[in-house]
Amino acid sequence: MCDVVSRAVNSMPERERGEVLAALAEDAAVAASASPRIAPGFEAMAPSDRAGGRTRLVTVGVAGGPVISNPSRVGVCTAIIHADRMYVVDLGVGSLNRLAALGQRENGGDSSNTFLSLRALFFTHMHSDHCVDWPALYATGTMMANKATDPVQVFGPGRRDTLPRVFPPHRPEPSVIEPDDPTPGIEGMTRYLRKAFAADFNDRARDSNFKIPDDWFDVHDIDHSPHWTVDPAGIPPRLSGPIEVWEDGDVRVTATLVDHHPTAPAYGFRFDTPDGSIVVSGDTTVSENLIDLAHGADYLVHEVIDPAFADRLASILPPDVGPAVREHLLTAHTTVEQVGRDVAEPAGVRNLVLSHIVPSTTPADVLAAAQDGYSGRLIIGEDMLELSV
Ligand SMILES: [Zn+2]
Ligand SMILES: [Zn+2]
Repeated sequence: MCDVVSRAVNSMPERERGEVLAALAEDAAVAASASPRIAPGFEAMAPSDRAGGRTRLVTVGVAGGPVISNPSRVGVCTAIIHADRMYVVDLGVGSLNRLAALGQRENGGDSSNTFLSLRALFFTHMHSDHCVDWPALYATGTMMANKATDPVQVFGPGRRDTLPRVFPPHRPEPSVIEPDDPTPGIEGMTRYLRKAFAADFNDRARDSNFKIPDDWFDVHDIDHSPHWTVDPAGIPPRLSGPIEVWEDGDVRVTATLVDHHPTAPAYGFRFDTPDGSIVVSGDTTVSENLIDLAHGADYLVHEVIDPAFADRLASILPPDVGPAVREHLLTAHTTVEQVGRDVAEPAGVRNLVLSHIVPSTTPADVLAAAQDGYSGRLIIGEDMLELSV
């Protein structure tokens, strides 16, 4: 679920709000009784299995949206492990604990060096369900990386050029939060975190020789200016090729602008390793740029929404809001029907992994429909599912 839905729900009269929240709870109950979310034919891939191999993909968290409708699942986060190096895309709500469990396992259980293997973080966009655990890692991470390592490289969107348009269009213009800097990117957000945690950092630096985050994180805005001046509609242009982001030895990271309008810039990332390639979509509707980026990839980790959820919400919300919310959800995200047929198939990817599942309670038999029109292997993402590349 997107922020627009949360706002709509919060603005409703109490009785109607109760109906919507009851519907969300119903989704949670359905999920609790559902079978494990593994596609038919792939039951052997239980979440507890360790894939082994030099290069691996781990869907650390697969829940989409800022609403915790199923507390047993954590927010979206994907890890790519190559040899002793770990690369992470997005840090959704609750994902840091799971990532710590993964880091400790990779380090043989050494909790004093939980993030020893972490080389880089990549944020797809500035929606809170993708970066809300970044403040937690920023403030506490150096205390879990006690051996000397190279700084962790952090990449994400730069500051947006204009505010998004008001939605639905007839709604009065809301007041602007922080008009001096209303659309910070990852560098700006991190600067504000440094201010926000100053008391803690100064305290620990004086009292316990705390390594301050400046020494461990190198934060970079991805410069979108050569490609696009972001307008209020936020629909990106078609790119002629990938955006180079970073090379770390034999791992190359590229990106593209995906279409999560009006939220922008929003990126999908591709990781090319000697063993294979992994693409992570971020939040997007069907995107030709993303299909180009994913061309021939071994794994495509792609977001997905159950359109029946959008219909349910639209039927419960007030009539002046419901249809607009439904349209937003279905034009800024990719449906179960679209993701295999319209994205994975034309991209020619060997494996499609569903993640950022909205709602996170969607049963496996609904998600299995993503196989229709897709000739590759469908894998329904699960928290901490590990796959060999
Ligand atoms: Zn999201
Ligand atoms: Zn989003």
